[in-house]
Amino acid sequence: TEVMDGPMRVLVTGGSGLVGRAIERVVKEGEGREGEEWIFLSSKEANLVSAEETRAVFQKHRPTHVIHLAAMVGGLYRNMRQNLDFWRDNVHINDNVLHMSQEFGVVKVVSCLSTCVFPDKTTYPIDETMMHNGAPHVSNYGYAYAKRMIDVHNRACFQQYGLRYTAIIPTNIFGPHDNFNIEDGHVMPGLVHKTYLAKKEGKPLEVWGSGRALRQFIFSVDLARLFVWALREYNEVEPIIASVGEEEEQSVKDAVDAVVEGFGFKGEVISFPFGVNYPFHPQTLTNRSQYDTSRSDGQIKKTASNAKLRKYLPDFKFTPFKEAVKETCDWLAANYDIARK
Ligand code: NDP
Repeated sequence: TEVMDGPMRVLVTGGSGLVGRAIERVVKEGEGREGEEWIFLSSKEANLVSAEETRAVFQKHRPTHVIHLAAMVGGLYRNMRQNLDFWRDNVHINDNVLHMSQEFGVVKVVSCLSTCVFPDKTTYPIDETMMHNGAPHVSNYGYAYAKRMIDVHNRACFQQYGLRYTAIIPTNIFGPHDNFNIEDGHVMPGLVHKTYLAKKEGKPLEVWGSGRALRQFIFSVDLARLFVWALREYNEVEPIIASVGEEEEQSVKDAVDAVVEGFGFKGEVISFPFGVNYPFHPQTLTNRSQYDTSRSDGQIKKTASNAKLRKYLPDFKFTPFKEAVKETCDWLAANYDIARK
């Protein structure tokens, strides 16, 4: 824990997003401490792509600590179309936030990376030491390289100024307040939204890709608790993966099942156009084109190790997957009008 003059004043960039809202919730529900101030930023208050606006917002709030979540974020399909925008916006946002943190004497920054940063060709499970070992997947290299540069910035900042700025690497996040946009969103919120609509309209549910891709999903509220922990306790500059265990990896098909159960959806699920049956092991995939659909699966798997996290927090309890999915489905149903979609 840091030696400080007074209680923390924490600036959370991206405070209006999926993870930001979850941090707001856990701070309210007991993770916050007496005298602390938590400021949740939205892009409406400052466009962090702009150096001037970033400076102004640091000037205004004078944070002692920063949780840096703000990013241009999108699902697979949007990434594939807009690598240049993802690269430029994110590299500017990250440099602005980290540089202003240093200039304004912020004691600690915990930024948010993504398992997309890891090399496409890799051994499994992936761990924290492997980030720079090879090119990321072609689908989202703009976003991935911009995220990797946060790690470069953190290391150099420690070397030059002794500042312990660090980063968390979450796997696929989901929860209330997600962006439920179907075309440009992530797999889980897209599924939740499509299932909601299929149920409401009494239509079949159509799922993109083959369903075989494997992912580790983390509930935004669990991740939020890990961010608060990292801000208070984690003192390495090297990043740390925030993930459920390797044994809790789910196929996209498992996710579909959980969402169908979450909504009590009774309609037909159309998902595997070439009659591929489950369970399906990615290793048995010899000829991808054989199963190709117009909708890519993205990386077939990216199994990450949570051994480092477990070394620090052996008793941390993740919300059971189905329970967290149901809560997300319930949230969308109750907040459909205000949800981002
Ligand atoms: P959301 O899309 O829910 O939220 C993004 C946040 O960033 C919003 O608060 C948004 O503000 C803010 N933001 C975007 N652009 C700007 C900008 N130019 N200036 C200021 N603020 C901006 O994203 P998540 O909560 O899902 O993502 C949080 C972090 O987690 C990101 O760094 C993301 O890369 C990372 N991540 C996400 C994963 C996921 O599965 N969702 C997986 C792995 C990592 P506003 O809404 O007000 O415009």
